[in-house]
Amino acid sequence: MVAHEGISDRARAIAEKVETFVRETVIPYEADRRRDHHGAPTDELVMEMRERARAADVLTPHILSDGSHLNQRETAMVLIKSGLSPLGPLACNTMAPDEGNMYLLGKEGSPELKERFLKPMVEGRVRSAFFMTEPADEGGAGSDPSMMKTVCHPDGNHWVINGRKTFITGAQGARVGIVIAKANEGACMFLIDLPDPAIRIDHVPNTIDSSMPGGHATLTIDNLRVPADQMLGEAGEGFRYAQVRLSPARLSHCMRWLGACIRAQEIATDYANRREAFGKPLIDHEGVGFMLAENMIDLKQAELMVDWCAGVLDTGSLGTVESSMAKVAVSEALMRIADRCVQVMGGTGVTDRTIVEQVFREVRAFRIYDGPTEVHKWSLAKKIKREWKAGHA
Ligand SMILES: Cc1cc2nc3c(=O)[nH]c(=O)nc-3n(C[C@H](O)[C@H](O)[C@H](O)COP(=O)(O)OP(=O)(O)OC[C@H]3O[C@@H](n4cnc5c(N)ncnc54)[C@H](O)[C@@H]3O)c2cc1C
Repeated sequence: MVAHEGISDRARAIAEKVETFVRETVIPYEADRRRDHHGAPTDELVMEMRERARAADVLTPHILSDGSHLNQRETAMVLIKSGLSPLGPLACNTMAPDEGNMYLLGKEGSPELKERFLKPMVEGRVRSAFFMTEPADEGGAGSDPSMMKTVCHPDGNHWVINGRKTFITGAQGARVGIVIAKANEGACMFLIDLPDPAIRIDHVPNTIDSSMPGGHATLTIDNLRVPADQMLGEAGEGFRYAQVRLSPARLSHCMRWLGACIRAQEIATDYANRREAFGKPLIDHEGVGFMLAENMIDLKQAELMVDWCAGVLDTGSLGTVESSMAKVAVSEALMRIADRCVQVMGGTGVTDRTIVEQVFREVRAFRIYDGPTEVHKWSLAKKIKREWKAGHA
C-alpha cells in the first residue's frame, strides 16, 4: 500500500470494514442472476444488498453522519475496497454517477436542496442521474461540452428546459436528476425529480458494460418546467459546477475500477497457480508469470497515481490537470491488467464463470466516459504548448 501518513485511523477502520463486507457478503451475490434486460443488476437486488450494507454500517461509507466527507486520499482507500466486486459500489452506495452527484450537491447545494435531494441519496434510498452528453448524430455535446444544444429559459418563477440527452447512466429508474442546459447567461444546472412526464426515455442501448442499473438512456426533454429554486447556484455557472464535480468523480472511477482489477489479479493468480500445462503450474511458465508480474507493477503505479491526485485535490485545488493525467494513466493501466488477466485464464477468462471478463468489458468503457484518453492528452498538450509559449515570449 501507499504511505498512509495523513490518513485517519477512522478512515482505515472504514476501509477494513468495507473490504470485509464486500468479500464476505457482496461477492456471493455475484452468482445472483437478478439482472435487467441490459444485464445490469435490478433495483430489487441493489436494495437488498443495501439493506445488508446498512446493517453492516458500510452504506455510503465515505460520507460521515454529520454530512462531511472523508478526504480524497481516505476516500480512495474506501472506494478501492468497495470496488473489489463490480456489485460492491452498488451495495455500498459508492457508485457512479451517484457518488459524484452527492459530492457536487454536498459542495454547492443550498440547505433546502440538500435536504430534499441529497438526503435520500446519502441514505441509499434513491438513485440519481447526471444529464450532460447529447446525441452525436445531432451535433450535441460529447467530448466538447460547449456544443451543448439543450436550452433553458426563465418563465415566471420556473425555468423551462428542452433538448435531447444520451448515455445518461441510470436515468431509467432514477428519482433525482442533475440536468445541464444553456441559457442566455450561459450554462445552468438544475435538480429535478424523476420520473417526469416531460422527460421521455427514447432508447436504452445494449452496451459493453453491465454494472450500472438503468443502463445508459437516450431521452427527450420536452418543455420540462423546473421551479427556479431548484437551480443549483447561479444562472450561467453550470460549467463551473460541472468542474467541481469533474476531478473527484473522474478519480473515483479510477478508485473503484482499481479495486476490481486487484480482484481480477487475485482470480488470475489463483488460476495460474492451480492450473497445470506441460507438466507444471502455469505460473512457472515465464510467459504467464511475467503477465502477472507486469500486472503487479501496473497496479502499484495506478494506486500511486490515484493517491497523488487525491492528495492534490485535498489541497483544495480543482486538480483538473492532475485528474486528466491520473485518468489516462489509470484507465490505460487497468485495461492492460484486465486484458492480461483474461489471457492468463485462457478460455475461462472470457466466460462469466468469474468477474474477470466483466471487469475487462467495464474498463474498456471507462477509457471513454469521464473524458476519452485522447481528449485528456489533447488538453495536456495544449497546456504544454501554453507553458512553452509563456517561457519563450
Ligand atoms: C458507459 C458510459 C456511461 C456514460 N454516462 C454518462 C452520464 O451518466 N452522463 C453523461 O452526461 N454522459 C455520460 N456518458 C457520455 C460520455 O461522457 C461521452 O461518451 C464522452 O464524453 C465522449 O463523448 P462522445 O461519446 O460524444 O464522443 P465524441 O465526442 O464523438 O468523441 C469520439 C472520439 O473522438 C476522439 N476525440 C474527441 N475529441 C478529441 C480531441 N480533442 N483530440 C483527440 N481525439 C478526440 C476520442 O477518441 C473520442 O473517444 C457515458 C458514456 C459511456 C460510454
